[in-house]
Amino acid sequence: MSDWLRIAEHIAGRWLILAVDALLVAFLIYRLLLLAKGTRAYQVLIGLLVFVGALYLSDALRLETIHWLLDRMTTLGPVALVILFFPELRRVLETIGRVEFWRSSLGVSPEAQPIQRAIGEVVSAVQQMARDRIGALIVWERKDRIAQGDGIELQAEVGSPLLRAIFYPGSPLHDGAVILRGGQIVEAAVYFPKISQNPDIPNSMHTRHRAGIGATEDSDCIAIIVSEETGQITVAVDGAWTQNVDADHLRRLLSDLLTGEARPHILARMGSAFNTARKQRAERRAAIPADDKRTV
Ligand code: ATP
Ligand code: MG
Repeated sequence: MSDWLRIAEHIAGRWLILAVDALLVAFLIYRLLLLAKGTRAYQVLIGLLVFVGALYLSDALRLETIHWLLDRMTTLGPVALVILFFPELRRVLETIGRVEFWRSSLGVSPEAQPIQRAIGEVVSAVQQMARDRIGALIVWERKDRIAQGDGIELQAEVGSPLLRAIFYPGSPLHDGAVILRGGQIVEAAVYFPKISQNPDIPNSMHTRHRAGIGATEDSDCIAIIVSEETGQITVAVDGAWTQNVDADHLRRLLSDLLTGEARPHILARMGSAFNTARKQRAERRAAIPADDKRTV
């Protein structure tokens, strides 16, 4: 009887180890996909997963020639990937090395304090730049990654003096956008390749506003735009925007969007300009032929 018990224990122990092993791999793949989401590395990671699946299947189904071919490719693949995606890999490794990554992975919610501090700094900088008519475009990442290393990479704590120094006319970094991730400034002088083509955008808003709004159309980031012409503050999310935001409103919006959970509740607070823009877009979409809808 004790022998049976020992065998059962052994099998149970083996299964437990296998389950933990499989869970760890699944978790790592999930975190990698989350990290890469919104970057071109995402497509490659998906391709890699398909490749690994095909390699495994061709072996399991005994498709020897295909398996041999795929097996040969595995020796070249990693080198090509490292060369192609060196900047992305570096970013992933840097993120994994950071305490916040493990804290959020282990379900320990990051302290709200650093982000609240960063919000305070951004509000203060934006308020002063608006008063001084200094143009600025600040894009705050949420889940999706925007920063691609196309601008000037920075690793600096979000601070009002630093933001104002970046956007100060004449500063080498003042043109383009600043990208924030959590409480960090990760890139400056970023030129977005796409500017929004939304025809609802008022004529008074040109490339700075359109680039900011455009960035929010493809990802879940928040764009904060200060107009150098009018000193007005505009906030955009999800391709829609609200104009003439004051400091208190900006603080509440950022707080809700960066630390709050209830998205519909947040969107409701974006004000009437936001809702009107959405409604008009929906109406136009309904009115035009299906073929042309992509362009709206
Ligand atoms: P403002 O109200 O401040 O004048 P605007 O919406 O009228 O803004 P422009 O006057 O065209 O826009 O602003 C030009 C500035 O916007 C550029 O100097 C640059 O800093 C920024 N900008 C323009 N295009 C982009 C882009 N694609 N990505 C990031 N920043 C951009
Ligand atoms: Mg202008």
